[in-house]
Amino acid sequence: NYFYFFTFLMRKTKHALITGITGQDGAYLAKFLLKKNYQVFGTYRRLSTPNFWRLSYLEIEDRVKLIPADLIDTPSLIEAIRVSKPDEIYHLAAQSYVGASFDQPLSSGEFSGLAVSRMLESIRLFDPSIKFYQASSSEIFGKATTKSQNEQSSFIPQSPYATAKLYGYWMTQIYRDGYDMFAANGILFNHESPLRGLEFVTRKITNAAARIKLGLQKQLNLGYLGSYRDWGYAPEYVEGMWKILQQKKPDDFVLATNESHSVQEFVETTFSYLDLDWKKYVKIDKKFYRILEVNSLKGDSSKAQKKLSWKPKIKFKKLIQIMIEKDLERWQGWLNGEIFPWDANNYIGDEKTLFRKAN
Ligand code: NDP
Ligand code: GDP
Repeated sequence: NYFYFFTFLMRKTKHALITGITGQDGAYLAKFLLKKNYQVFGTYRRLSTPNFWRLSYLEIEDRVKLIPADLIDTPSLIEAIRVSKPDEIYHLAAQSYVGASFDQPLSSGEFSGLAVSRMLESIRLFDPSIKFYQASSSEIFGKATTKSQNEQSSFIPQSPYATAKLYGYWMTQIYRDGYDMFAANGILFNHESPLRGLEFVTRKITNAAARIKLGLQKQLNLGYLGSYRDWGYAPEYVEGMWKILQQKKPDDFVLATNESHSVQEFVETTFSYLDLDWKKYVKIDKKFYRILEVNSLKGDSSKAQKKLSWKPKIKFKKLIQIMIEKDLERWQGWLNGEIFPWDANNYIGDEKTLFRKAN
């Protein structure tokens, strides 16, 4: 009998709840967990224009169970936990864009910071045995003083976003230590893909370069090209998230490629891939400068490489190739009359938008 009970336990399908399943990481993670035979639940919020294009794009919208919830609405989060009965929660929902956090500092604190406590409190009250993954960010290193950053580096946030993420980072540790909960931070450096939001610099560049190549756009306006980032490939990073929750003990991990490149290098590599001279098309517009800039980030993911056996394979050049080829294919399809299955036409051209400016 024990044997049958044991095999029953072993066979039980695991349940995962992903907050922010409609975002880049949420969609890839859902796909990854479905392949691992999880039952996948995800939260979405009501928007005037529904945002399920990433789930459709990965052909998983019918395979995940969607639960309406908003990060400000605690009962809706508790309901999501009650309905999904998760073994693991991946808390990815947040106001995820550094630039917007200067325009909306309070709501960014609310959604990227306080909401983490709402999740942790809900888990503590509902079922503290649920494993919790917090989507922390390399932005917490901010004005980094070391050449590369690992789990021991200092935190010097430079934006409302980063400050909110740092709050979430500490709350996750507090619940881990104080309530003995399995709560872990993934401190992820930038990770990109063809599903990246268009306001982020990588996708803004590959999308514009593809359009320029096809004669659909003449110019690309960018801000500061001198900052350095450690850019990896999102599908590899969601696997790292899962590995973090499969550890015996909860712990925090940096995920990064351990390489750093400038925004200008990203521009040059993208345009030269299309045999274009970037200098002819790229214009600097100071309105895209940040109020405060994070000049240089470079990860050191040796702990994850050792303890999780996690190793990113797709580095800078390959990443750019994947993104540019997909954007090119999409816009070529559009020219051939294909209906947009993706995000591109949902954004108003950012040259029309009034952002807050630095002094
Ligand atoms: P996205 O912006 O693509 O996705 C964010 C998700 O959060 C979306 O599903 C969005 O829903 C949801 N969301 C935002 N506000 C609310 C709200 N008030 N209530 C409910 N849901 C909300 O981000 P990524 O997938 O790139 O990132 C995932 C997480 O990882 C984020 O927390 C981000 O800050 C963090 N991170 C990301 C990094 C990266 O390089 N991608 C690096 C380090 C950390 P909707 O679709 O409706 O807008
Ligand atoms: P972040 O690292 O999370 O802030 O990711 P982003 O992709 O938004 O920005 C990466 C870097 O690109 C930052 O240093 C930005 O200041 C810089 N950058 C330069 N021009 C632009 C632009 O037009 N849009 C964005 N989003 N970033 C830009």
